[in-house]
Amino acid sequence: MTDLTRKDSSQASDEADASEKVFHASKTCPECGSKLWAAAEGGGWQCPNPDCPAQVRRWLQHWCAADVMDIAGGDEKMIGLLVQHGLVRDVAELYRLKVKELAALPGLDQPAAQKFFDAITASMKREASRFLYGLNIPLVGMAEAQALGKGFSTVGAVFAAGVPRLMKDGGVSEAVAQSIVRWHSGSVNRKLVKRLEKLCLSF
Ligand SMILES: [Zn+2]
Repeated sequence: MTDLTRKDSSQASDEADASEKVFHASKTCPECGSKLWAAAEGGGWQCPNPDCPAQVRRWLQHWCAADVMDIAGGDEKMIGLLVQHGLVRDVAELYRLKVKELAALPGLDQPAAQKFFDAITASMKREASRFLYGLNIPLVGMAEAQALGKGFSTVGAVFAAGVPRLMKDGGVSEAVAQSIVRWHSGSVNRKLVKRLEKLCLSF
């Protein structure tokens, strides 16, 4: 989310892709006050601030969902606690949590903390397609992530491929391929992938 060029809604066209952001004149995020934008005209209004607690919570809940990294216990309440207590600011930080930190959270005892910790650890072995889906790359839904998982042997190979190879080997459209390359060109995203890679997630 680096390209925050203000774009007049009248300029939005059928060719609008994830980088074509339409800002709302008066709507602001109730949590962080950022001006909301839509990826395209008619799309839902979103907060563009990657550090917004609401965005962080939404991404973490997506990451933990059963059809993504399947981390049991990573529900709305747990994620809310983790973000509220400053323990987790992005998905990589989930893998740095300690049992004693979790056990100190209100409402969690040692067995519950251990159970959630074990669920996080187990998620490190999920297949690459789930991992790709979990990253919240614009236009990359489960179907695209599964196609990429079939076409490439590792997550690293997906990000090393350019647009033509993503289309040829990954079987995704040009718009999806461009979205992946653009997402990975953002330094915050690239660093996140490197951190996850170091944690030995299914690369
Ligand atoms: Zn916000």
